Amino acid sequence: MSVLKSLTRLKDAALNLLFPAKCVGCGSTGDYICDSCRSGFPLISSPICEYCGILLKHGNVCMRCRQHSQTIDGIRSLFAFQDSARKAVYELKYNNLRAIAHTMAPLFHDYMLANDISGDVLVPVPLHSSRLRERGYNQSELICRELGKLCNLLFEKKSLVRTQHTKSQTALNRDQRADNVKDVFACKDDIFKGKRVLLIDDVCTTGATLDACAVSLKEKGALAVWGLTFARDL
Ligand SMILES: [Zn+2]
Ligand SMILES: [Zn+2]
Repeated sequence: MSVLKSLTRLKDAALNLLFPAKCVGCGSTGDYICDSCRSGFPLISSPICEYCGILLKHGNVCMRCRQHSQTIDGIRSLFAFQDSARKAVYELKYNNLRAIAHTMAPLFHDYMLANDISGDVLVPVPLHSSRLRERGYNQSELICRELGKLCNLLFEKKSLVRTQHTKSQTALNRDQRADNVKDVFACKDDIFKGKRVLLIDDVCTTGATLDACAVSLKEKGALAVWGLTFARDL
């Protein structure tokens, strides 16, 4: 092990002693998501739309995907955006709890193995540079970094960029969301040519952001693009 790695581990261990990890769900110490809360995370049970991954009452393709073709090949999410799963995302994104990415990444990995999801390269959904400065980190990048180690995949964070700062998607309806993120992403080079890209993000709502990323990636020759998010706001 390199000296740097040993030092990093030592620092992590020391920090853990001073500030022990607390479960975001129940507050118990030991990890940011304890086993008990993790097993209570709301799963998105089938049937789901085979393209966008949204929960369905019956059938296998949702009305939206039947009516509007999308560029992204498919979207899947680990959990519904509720309860402790929602809290975990909140802590990662808005409360500077960067270390929870270490706990989330193995959950992504488990999901990929269980659902036969793979790719050649992991790409985090990029933040605009002004948002990155404001927050100090890209939450999806933190997950990607850990996930890449677990599934032994390349992690590429520089080629796909967000060129415009858009307003928050929160108050927008489905069509407005798609318009809001149209043409805001760009691929700087052709590094993804012929590659199967796995886009990683914390939350997916309508899938408009992931689809807009897929447009830019495929314009530069990506063979396939799938989106995988921690939570799905259904
Ligand atoms: Zn807990
Ligand atoms: Zn669908």
